[in-house]
Amino acid sequence: MICIPIIANNLDDALCDMDEASKVADIIEVRLDYLKNPDLKCILERRTKPIIITNRPVREGGKFEGSEEERLAVLKLAIQLQADYVDIEHDSIQNIRRDTVHRVPTKIIVSYHNFRETPDNLASIYQKLSQCGADVVKIVSYANTITDNVKIYRLLRQAHGHVISFCMGEYGMTSRILYKRFGSYLTFASLRKGKESAPGQISIQEFLTIYRAQRQDKDTGIYGLIGNPVAHSISPLIHNTLFKEMNLNSIYVPFKVDNISDFIRAFRELDVKGYSVTIPHKESVIHHLDAIDSMAKKIGAVNTIVNKGDQLIGFNTDCKAAIQVLEDLQQTSGMGTKNNHFTGRCVTLLGAGGASRAIAFGLQERGAHVTVVNRNYERAQSLARDVGCLSKKFGDLPEIKTDILINATPAGMFPAVNETPVDKNRLKPNMLVFDTIYNPAETRLLREAKAQGCKIVGGLPMFVNQAAAQFELWTGIKPPLKLIEEIAYKILVGE
Ligand code: NAP
Repeated sequence: MICIPIIANNLDDALCDMDEASKVADIIEVRLDYLKNPDLKCILERRTKPIIITNRPVREGGKFEGSEEERLAVLKLAIQLQADYVDIEHDSIQNIRRDTVHRVPTKIIVSYHNFRETPDNLASIYQKLSQCGADVVKIVSYANTITDNVKIYRLLRQAHGHVISFCMGEYGMTSRILYKRFGSYLTFASLRKGKESAPGQISIQEFLTIYRAQRQDKDTGIYGLIGNPVAHSISPLIHNTLFKEMNLNSIYVPFKVDNISDFIRAFRELDVKGYSVTIPHKESVIHHLDAIDSMAKKIGAVNTIVNKGDQLIGFNTDCKAAIQVLEDLQQTSGMGTKNNHFTGRCVTLLGAGGASRAIAFGLQERGAHVTVVNRNYERAQSLARDVGCLSKKFGDLPEIKTDILINATPAGMFPAVNETPVDKNRLKPNMLVFDTIYNPAETRLLREAKAQGCKIVGGLPMFVNQAAAQFELWTGIKPPLKLIEEIAYKILVGE
């Protein structure tokens, strides 16, 4: 079930929000502690969906500032008026008379909130709460790291009866989204952005459109994106739409990861079927996998992980994706060779990170003369040594004559859209210019290159190719490129 909390501060707004929330939520929580002079009778009469009445004190992260007697009197009244659920804090439950609780149809939720951390003793907290005679136990903690979600997963696997449990905060999104897969009785989603009742709550719209909340169950296959940052990635929408179109019971979620070693170790327990890997973990993740595909090993960077019988295997789909884009560009610009090789072509590659490594190896293997140019020259030299190509300092760029110029740096990427890695005067007509950045779809570098008469291509086709290759590695199904392109284009260009 998805519960939408109502956090309006006056009755009219609360009733209005309740009506709106009832159209999409399974259950509504009315936070009386936000309301000035709440009219409980009116609220309960207005409901069209089951309702949870909560009157959270400041000590548990709420806004109710009156006396404990006043606060509990409101909760007792909610029970008398037969609210569907009443949430009572674990340290107050003994103060609500047991006979009041047991003689009415209202279900009692006994709750524990920890806004500082996800403690190690969740099991003993659960034991204590489950002895209170409540119908539902609620344990909500704060995630300081992504692995805190695994503590919630363990708790829910061991618990009996109805238990609501997840982590708050940015790192806690995993347990909020995967609530059914983890076994939580319900999860919370905000009515819209700005209406969150706790940190890390995502909107109902995101829940329904990106994560297809209703489709999830205990058998749902988990996939996800390892990176930092991951909040603005378009990959969840793309892969979740593909799972929907292919009718697969799978979900793709973002994992904001600081420590890759801890993450891979802890998340093995969740049996995640596959990962995408992005900045800054593409190189470091290699040391924590069970096997690496030969191309990924050669490149020294992994952007895809497949779980085959509990063995995590690393692949690199960036290389093939970028080469395909350059081959297409050669073809459309009339520079294509018979076998579409790059033999004899001079390529200047800006950047020496994970993407550059993949592209440099792919092009060198296909006969191109690659020159790596990077801000940190030692890094350029190191990549050039590994690949067996040339390297130059960024300052030497005016002297470079090239057939193909590739930007594999974030210079020009959203939000720094006015940046460009190359002065426009260095761009010559007939050069092929490939910018791997896909947000924005057309960077300043590409606009200036087009004005100089260059043939251009942005990062979107590479993104589409590598996402399709990942999906095929995970599922064995070739997804329609057109669909991926349409979704990505819609998000990035808004059309
Ligand atoms: P990375 O491993 O972090 O490497 C970044 C590289 O860019 C480094 O060589 C860095 O130089 C250089 N750099 C960073 N900021 C710069 C600036 N302002 N001016 C000049 N150079 C700068 O990142 P990555 O994974 O290789 O990704 C690099 C780019 O490729 C990103 O824009 C990403 O969006 C794009 N990419 C696109 C796709 C796709 O599917 N279209 C796939 C992968 C990557 P130093 O070594 O001097 O720090």
